Amino acid sequence: MIVTSKSANALGCTSGSWRIWSLSDGHVDMPADLLRQGPGLGKYTLPGLLQAEPSLVRLSVNCFLLEQPGNHGVLIDCGAGGRWEPTLGHLESAMVEAGIDPSSIGVVALTHTHLDHLNGLITRDGREAFVNLSKIVIAHDAVCHFADEPHLERFRHLLVPIEDGERLTDHLSAIAMPGHAPGHMGYVLDSGEDRILFCGDLIHVPAAQFARPELTWAYDDNQSTARATRLRLLREVSNTQAWLAGAHMAKPGMGKVVEEGSGYVLRPIA
Ligand SMILES: [Zn+2]
Repeated sequence: MIVTSKSANALGCTSGSWRIWSLSDGHVDMPADLLRQGPGLGKYTLPGLLQAEPSLVRLSVNCFLLEQPGNHGVLIDCGAGGRWEPTLGHLESAMVEAGIDPSSIGVVALTHTHLDHLNGLITRDGREAFVNLSKIVIAHDAVCHFADEPHLERFRHLLVPIEDGERLTDHLSAIAMPGHAPGHMGYVLDSGEDRILFCGDLIHVPAAQFARPELTWAYDDNQSTARATRLRLLREVSNTQAWLAGAHMAKPGMGKVVEEGSGYVLRPIA
């Protein structure tokens, strides 16, 4: 991947015939004691030096846009819209910053249905964010959870359920990443030059979970499964030198994972 543009909330890259954007929706501070030693185990205390306020961890919220000439863009997750903290819901302004027209987006591919990943279908001021949206790709197992959100009813007819391994386009396919939420789904882009794994909520606290991927997050539905998925995929991307792109990894949320000691480090793209 070659970085072609960079601003405060947007990073643009090229890979083969694809253009890949990281677009920041903002950030949210969460209680640090959501981090656990492991499934069924006690709280994990972050070393205080990691940040000024040790009782909170700051989670970036990143969305990723994949563009190819002649096709509508595919947006992986769309942020929190106006329904969470005011520090979130800034995807639209990140697009303005990057010179991206939201009407160029035809597909939203969801990693799961937590509100910081799908509420951005509606802008902070209540408009539909993507006027040319024709599909919302979502794991089969997540469809009923989307349907539980009455304010998103107007989008239900756009849902296209997928399964592990199914293709969205020539170079882009879905990959199941179980544990965090029902039907938690990642997406893999094989551009011909790079393999990029968009991993949703595989990692919540990058400052802790790369070095110690066995640490779990209290909001993982199944912490054991989430941990096994994280251990397996970090090993895989490290061995294959694939890129990893995560919703809550520090902005811009993309990098290569390198083994270090008993864990890993992330080498950010820029
Ligand atoms: Zn999330």
